[in-house]
Amino acid sequence: PVVARFCPSPTGNPHVGMARTALFSWAYARHRGGRFVFRIEDTDASRDSEESYDLLVDVMRWLGLDWDEGVEVGGPNGPYRQSQRMDVYADVAQRLLDAGLAYKAYDTAEELEQRRDAARAAGRPSGYDGLHRDLTPEQQAAYEAEGRQPVIRFKMPAKDWTFDDLVRGPITFGADNVQDFVIVRANGQPLYTLTNPTDDALMGITHVLRGEDILSSTPRQIAMYEAFAQIGLGHGMVPRFGHLPYVTGAGNKKLSKRDPESNLLGYRDQGFLAEGLLNYLALLGWSLPAVDGVEKDVFTLEEMVQAFEISRVNPNPARFDLKKCEAINGDHVRLLSDEELRSRLVPFFVAEGLVQDPPTESEAAMLAAAVPLVHERMALLTEAVAMLRFLFVDDATFTIDEADAAKQLDEKGLDVVRAALAALESIGSTVEWSTPTIEGALRVALIDDLGLKPRVAFGPVRVAATGSRISPPLFESLELLGRKRTLARLRAVV
Ligand code: GLU
Repeated sequence: PVVARFCPSPTGNPHVGMARTALFSWAYARHRGGRFVFRIEDTDASRDSEESYDLLVDVMRWLGLDWDEGVEVGGPNGPYRQSQRMDVYADVAQRLLDAGLAYKAYDTAEELEQRRDAARAAGRPSGYDGLHRDLTPEQQAAYEAEGRQPVIRFKMPAKDWTFDDLVRGPITFGADNVQDFVIVRANGQPLYTLTNPTDDALMGITHVLRGEDILSSTPRQIAMYEAFAQIGLGHGMVPRFGHLPYVTGAGNKKLSKRDPESNLLGYRDQGFLAEGLLNYLALLGWSLPAVDGVEKDVFTLEEMVQAFEISRVNPNPARFDLKKCEAINGDHVRLLSDEELRSRLVPFFVAEGLVQDPPTESEAAMLAAAVPLVHERMALLTEAVAMLRFLFVDDATFTIDEADAAKQLDEKGLDVVRAALAALESIGSTVEWSTPTIEGALRVALIDDLGLKPRVAFGPVRVAATGSRISPPLFESLELLGRKRTLARLRAVV
């Protein structure tokens, strides 16, 4: 059975690359009917934060990438925060030492640097030269007596390392690329080199999908698994590795954690749907197999799970294109029912103080009537808030976009608004205030009588009543706004 995992370190804001990794691992586990483990690698107290931990859990829940074992939910191989597993790593390090697979090294930073420089100058590999590999107990005691604190280094077997990457195919690292590496710092802190393979082994991980940036750590990890087999730790096998392509941003540069478009929670705040964002993230290195030669860009998570073969992951860098991401999100918005869209929008209206939490009956009714007007015209949830705000603000807080006012409400525009006002004042008492009567009155007054083109006629009315040129269809908007507020807003500008 497949066991895949996602094991981020909680530093800074969760980013796009992480979510792509989580999605691919998750989709693979689900596709194969396996298990998905969510572990947190927080052994570096100087970089990790509780806030970042909370954000990671939040974002996974928002995305809907559920986990069978891991933080918050527990499981048979917990705890799932590495900071709570320090005794495990200390024990594994000791067992590696006892078995002669690792050793204490007492070199000082200066000594290491000197030897590194000398090696470089002589054109030799500049990694650790193995000087303390075979210290006698007497030599060790002498260093200890000097007060030196040793690191623990893993004894890297001198051989080539070849593995069959699930994405890239066979990869070989030559023997002299990987020297004995540190697994425990002098202060006792276990490093990623130890904690990551230890937990993958103890948690029964069979498939490791992760970013290409850590490809170079793979031979070390494979060597660790081989050592674990010798000391009887974990499931005794080496997992399969698949390294996912880099995500690039503008100018084809690798997208960095610090680029604003990397910030995952920014997408939620801008009103991306989780399913829209996931769909786009899936396309960063993967695609649904074409059917009858037709490629389908827009798909659900279930469709992805169904079709997710790692062999279809493309090893070339994947470009993150915000416009495309938004367009795909818009397609997912249109897949929602009006009612579902409305419930997704409520928190955004609440956050802006436009409706109460929960909305009152009349606010809910207004939302129900207004949402269908924008459903086809939006890509992000925040766009609906911007377009519908005019319906939820009272006349005291209503404002008109300055640039739109400058363009639309000049002298000519104000003449149009005056004519519209006169026409609209005449409805509502004898005939009902409704989309067709509003449309009829405005067409007669502005198009027939004044001979204006529709764009010229309706633009100024739109800006005066809704505050913006970007708003839902005009006549429907005025109907929802109501007679009183419509007339008041038009009167306020003329
Ligand atoms: N904690 C590591 C990271 O965030 C995990 C890498 C891996 O998946 O092995 O980079």
